[in-house]
Amino acid sequence: MNDPKNSAANSSANSSANAPASNFLRGIIEADLAANKYANRTDPNGHTLPSVVTRFPPEPNGYLHIGHAKSICLNFGLARDFDGRCTMRFDDTNPTKEEQEYVDTILDSVKWLGFNWKDDSGDHLYFASDYFDQMYFMAEYLITAGHAYVDSQSAEDMARNRGNFGEPGKNSPYRDRPAQESLDLFRRMKAGEFKDGEHILRARIDMASPNMNLRDPAIYRIRHAHHHRTGDKWCVYPMYDYAHPIEDAIENITHSFCTLEFQDHRPFYDWVLERLAEGGFFKKPLPEQTEFARLNLTYAITSKRKLLQLVEEKIVDGWDDPRMPTIVGIRRRGFTPESIQLFCERIGVTKSDSWIDMGTLEGALRDDLDAKAPRAVAVLRPLKLIIDNFPENLQEDCTAPVHPHHPERGHRTFPISKELWIEQEDFMEVPTKGYFRLFPGNKVRLRYGYVVECTGCDKDDNGNVIAVHCNYFADSKSGTEGSNNYKVKGNIHWVSAHNALQAEVRLYDRLFSDAMPDAGGKDFKTALNPNSKEVITAYFEHGMGKALADDKFQFERHGYFVADRVDSKPGKPVFNRVVTLKDSWGK
Ligand code: ATP
Ligand code: MG
Repeated sequence: MNDPKNSAANSSANSSANAPASNFLRGIIEADLAANKYANRTDPNGHTLPSVVTRFPPEPNGYLHIGHAKSICLNFGLARDFDGRCTMRFDDTNPTKEEQEYVDTILDSVKWLGFNWKDDSGDHLYFASDYFDQMYFMAEYLITAGHAYVDSQSAEDMARNRGNFGEPGKNSPYRDRPAQESLDLFRRMKAGEFKDGEHILRARIDMASPNMNLRDPAIYRIRHAHHHRTGDKWCVYPMYDYAHPIEDAIENITHSFCTLEFQDHRPFYDWVLERLAEGGFFKKPLPEQTEFARLNLTYAITSKRKLLQLVEEKIVDGWDDPRMPTIVGIRRRGFTPESIQLFCERIGVTKSDSWIDMGTLEGALRDDLDAKAPRAVAVLRPLKLIIDNFPENLQEDCTAPVHPHHPERGHRTFPISKELWIEQEDFMEVPTKGYFRLFPGNKVRLRYGYVVECTGCDKDDNGNVIAVHCNYFADSKSGTEGSNNYKVKGNIHWVSAHNALQAEVRLYDRLFSDAMPDAGGKDFKTALNPNSKEVITAYFEHGMGKALADDKFQFERHGYFVADRVDSKPGKPVFNRVVTLKDSWGK
């Protein structure tokens, strides 16, 4: 039985298990600050730049998920803690997959998480596509300086000549074409004279490098595609690995944090910036890339491609389905920004990949909501309770605290009457051992109301219990002196049948029943939890009729719920279960 009084104890047990991990990124920043590495920098207008400038650089090609939240909390959080700046940058260098719709939802999600890219020095919202002119100009410089060439091999030849791990690549026959010829071809690529794939601009580094990323990586490719911001202005687009360091340097980033898969790309990141610094485009100290472990959350998937599949195949009800690990999904589910920030603090950052238990995210939510959420009563699986000796038309007020630990938040009032709704599981005709709720001959307290003694039940023709009968003790009301004369073990919740609010409730649970639904290339669709959504109609204390979209409550003994932000109407809320009071998935 979930006693709400125990929920605080529960959650603090949870939190001590998840004490903040040490943060090596913080250590790097502190060392750089101590060495004055990025002190005394000014922007082109002569304004002093902060010594810590980070960025959050999503590609606007999908919805953000809980993994991105880690990156957001990290980048914006470190900038905040070190009096720095975090820029909000759309890495929109790939025209074919990007859309304005994604830009809008991403900005909305970052704001909702509690972060802001505006500060006293300005509005630091940027689009990589705004730098296309500069990136192009820098590429021409690299050609002129002998650091890049136009390759005209077929895609197959290029792939074949790249070599393999342990096998060096072969130089392209075009590698040594004169710079002037490459420049001319590059300009004609830009002018639209060639088809996609006919030519490509590559860095001239080392085809024998043990690091495949240094084997003359591509810098610019031809792509005749419409861009969501630059329209048809361009038909050559920079490659991510070339564009990213330039974006960082233009925005005066000091610490460029990314996930571990980019570790092998770091030498090229540094190469691009070094060459461009030599060319006078950027001043030292240059931005530095540091990698951290991505977030893998159990019972969830955090691949944009797989999330898209869930939406397209209608396995979930859209991107903001409350079971989705997208930010719009967890927001609709009822998670708070504070709980997600708390979660990110608790998991910290590490240098090696690991899985974080979903229970940690839910624990952070319980800890946040336990302190905030007003209490209310909901009967989810209703059974009629008739108090036979209660006056026929009497409705007598009962009061209960809005929050048990915050008396200053006042009381709520709801009536008790002859007919009530109780939970089906709070009655057993033949009690099992240790059962101390309603059964014939037993007394329980109706929470905030009277002590009643069960006298029996009514059944239908099939033997199902359809109503329970009891008598009440008129001198036993909670809060009166007489109540102390009754010692009962059971304490059950109820709502008055005559004025209870009836509303839809969506009982959500984890989307997958396998802790690692897509590990090792598994088909995640075989790991779906068939019981991840159950829709029921429940009864509530009548005050719940005033619940507004996004309002969160603890329904006593049941868990945390939120009025759905999409489907709730004034006077007619629809509730989502955010999380139960206790973790039922734990070992
Ligand atoms: P894609 O495969 O489309 O590139 P992505 O998940 O890398 O997807 P981006 O939009 O490039 O998405 O990510 C923006 C930022 O969020 C990047 O800096 C990336 O490293 C970070 N990020 C993405 N997924 C995670 C994750 N699971 N944990 C931590 N950070 C993440
Ligand atoms: Mg990415």
